[in-house]
Amino acid sequence: MANFIKFLGTAGARIVVARQLRSSAGIWLSLDGSNIYIDPGPGALAKCFAARPKLDPMDLDAILLSHNHLDHAGDVNAMIEAMTLGGHKKKGTVFAPISAFEGDPIILKYVRKYLDKTTVLKEKGKYKVGSVSFETPVKHVHGIETFGFKFKGKGATLSYISDTRFFDDMHRYYKSDILIISVLKDKPSNLDHLCVDDVEKILKEIRPKTAILTHFGRFMLDAGPEKMAARLSRDCNTRVIAARDGMTFKF
Ligand SMILES: [Zn+2]
Repeated sequence: MANFIKFLGTAGARIVVARQLRSSAGIWLSLDGSNIYIDPGPGALAKCFAARPKLDPMDLDAILLSHNHLDHAGDVNAMIEAMTLGGHKKKGTVFAPISAFEGDPIILKYVRKYLDKTTVLKEKGKYKVGSVSFETPVKHVHGIETFGFKFKGKGATLSYISDTRFFDDMHRYYKSDILIISVLKDKPSNLDHLCVDDVEKILKEIRPKTAILTHFGRFMLDAGPEKMAARLSRDCNTRVIAARDGMTFKF
């Protein structure tokens, strides 16, 4: 089967999620026969079944949380139950930072026993899902412990830069053919999030074949993600796409 990324949600930040100005359902990645759900925010389960063709959570091999903010993890328990048919079919792995499992854990204890495995993500960690390997190369700057992912498939590398404040050598960690970037804001701010100017710096260094913008906050939506993507395409001489809810990217 062909590789694809399905953007079940493209929302970022509290207001866009709370008002569902965009869906907050996260990303389904199908790579070399493995199905991986990345950051199942509120609505993930419903959007799987609303998708055309529908995506069956029982086909998932793993669920990955970049961090346990609600917009990235709100539906993680529902997705674990759905992946394991309500706990009747023990399977799959959940990968998440330690804060998802301890303290005030977003992953409920009773659903953990439905899984084959839970794995705590660490900086410079290397992991496997089926034949797909992925890394969490660097800790992000985002208040709570947060990671991005760098996947290595047979024919392509793909990175997902989750929430973070910009840091200087970021591009060194996420060199890849396809780059998914969470860009919350159009203009610089004091938030622990990337803005369009930060993305420009990253793209000029990495020069991916395709960059896909997602995780839009309210100001980014007002500014127009497509407009921002067109500007970045021109200025960085790179193909840049603004994700839309329900968009499928095949590769
Ligand atoms: Zn966050």
